[in-house]
Amino acid sequence: MKTIAVMFAMDAEARPLVDHLALEENPSAFARANGAAPMKCFTGRVTSSSTGEDDAPTVIHVVCAGSCAKHSVCNVGTVGAALSTYETCVSLKPDVIVNAGTAGGFAKRGGKVGDVYLGSTFKNHDRRIPIPGYDAYGVGEYEAHPTPKLAEALGCKRGVVCTGNSLDATETCKKLLDEYQASVKEMEAAAMAHVAHLFGVPFIAVKTITDIVDGPVATQEEFLANLGAAAAALKNVVPKVVDFIAGRDVDDL
Ligand code: SAH
Repeated sequence: MKTIAVMFAMDAEARPLVDHLALEENPSAFARANGAAPMKCFTGRVTSSSTGEDDAPTVIHVVCAGSCAKHSVCNVGTVGAALSTYETCVSLKPDVIVNAGTAGGFAKRGGKVGDVYLGSTFKNHDRRIPIPGYDAYGVGEYEAHPTPKLAEALGCKRGVVCTGNSLDATETCKKLLDEYQASVKEMEAAAMAHVAHLFGVPFIAVKTITDIVDGPVATQEEFLANLGAAAAALKNVVPKVVDFIAGRDVDDL
């Protein structure tokens, strides 16, 4: 693999990988946006443990959605995700995009705090447009790039990832999350999958569970209580994903 982009919504999710790979901040990554792009990029090179000594190292860009200039919090959600994926595809031209982050899980589908999932399919559960044609557009279903070998190497769960712009879930959201058999609920992956598809860039997502959507504790409380456990799971798994991908061809994942 020549170039990998690993994309996060929140700086705190990205930091352990940036430190682990000793990446340098890359202030010119999104220069074409003339300072308007909120994203941050950290760049370096990795040599996979499975790569021969003669092989060139893989360039890795870790991209975070950055902070909202008006509200001074991370640009979580689909707007920040689409912006950062678009600019990443145009400016950094990755061979593969990996979205990594925290997410909600579902006890009724076997999810537990700290679980790691590779996304199989991405759907939006909060874009409900009951007009013929727009209904399917709203759901915006995209498939992950096939990664059977990576899934086996990680020994992680696989499942449908559903994206919406709220941390909570209304009754209608919950009904759709069940209809779509969601194993993972988060706020970015379907937007990134859509943009990656525009550019024909293979897209995969690895998500660790901070909170149980169908559990007894309110999402925001549980999210904050378990962020450490999920961040530790991310810190453990994302370097493995990078090492695995860096040493292979995109059709051999
Ligand atoms: N309160 C947090 C902000 C969390 S916003 C803070 O202190 O900074 C939620 C982020 O976590 C999004 O990037 C989203 O993708 C992910 N996430 C985790 N659990 C989620 C859930 N149950 N539903 C939706 N998004 C979730």
